[in-house]
Amino acid sequence: MAPMKHIKQTKGWLLGLVMATSLLISAAADEAQIKVLVISGQNNHNWTKSTPFLEKLLNSTGRIQATVCNSPSNNAPKAEWDAWQPKFGDFGCVLLNYNGESWPERVQKDFVEYVRNGGGVVVLHASNNSFTGWKEYEQMVGLLWRGKEFGDSLYFDKDGNIVREKAGEGRNMGHGGQYDWVMTTRDPSNPITQGMPLHWMHAKDELYHGQRGPAADVHILLSAYSDPTKGGTGHDEPIVWWVPYGKGKVLTNVMGHVGELTPLECVGFQVVLLRSVEWLSTGECHTPLPENFPSESEVRLNTPKS
Ligand code: ZN
Repeated sequence: MAPMKHIKQTKGWLLGLVMATSLLISAAADEAQIKVLVISGQNNHNWTKSTPFLEKLLNSTGRIQATVCNSPSNNAPKAEWDAWQPKFGDFGCVLLNYNGESWPERVQKDFVEYVRNGGGVVVLHASNNSFTGWKEYEQMVGLLWRGKEFGDSLYFDKDGNIVREKAGEGRNMGHGGQYDWVMTTRDPSNPITQGMPLHWMHAKDELYHGQRGPAADVHILLSAYSDPTKGGTGHDEPIVWWVPYGKGKVLTNVMGHVGELTPLECVGFQVVLLRSVEWLSTGECHTPLPENFPSESEVRLNTPKS
């Protein structure tokens, strides 16, 4: 009988070890998971189309877990806004796909505190049009869709030097027609742009120009030539940039116009977005450059797997 008992005890011990190990592994996997809060609910673009796409894209890696939080709709009763409480602090990164009414002061304060304490934010496309007059937001975004009296504007000259256009001077904000445009990688030392070719083709999108703001401490990662034959400025315009704010970082990516989903299907856009979320949440990027990354002359599209 003694050996039997011994076997039973060993089995029990082994089972305990397996359970403890699997608990440790699942805890580690849980910690490794990057949590992103996607905020939409109001936008002058079709967010009911883009937000599910972004959610699918983010969740496709297995490393990122996206949670969507939609604001009350336009002109919703005050009670709905009173009950709206995004829990920014539970997330490594917040992705704004929002261009609409001002948030309640309480939510604005939470958001600013979240960034000051080290939170990361991605401001996508028309989200930099939003929140006119919210000073902290305008400071942390740096360059926004605002009139030229509002602040300075930045672009690159032909030698790659940054030119600062003073408030009230130079070009107005806007965009030309939609077309495929060539991106220029400006800062390959950042983990988001590391390994990217100097030039790559982004799929048919609006190319914002003349964005205005405090324009302080703006780190530009990608820019694109705004073609005057397509209604552009003839300058190389900032497309992706980040601004430090307190202990946090706010990254603006003006790609991503949605009528059609094409700009979001661009492999280059997808790598930039996934890496942005990784970098803002952890300081590192693990999304590789896929083999089908766009070349200088060829657009590449991808539909994320569910
Ligand atoms: Zn747009």
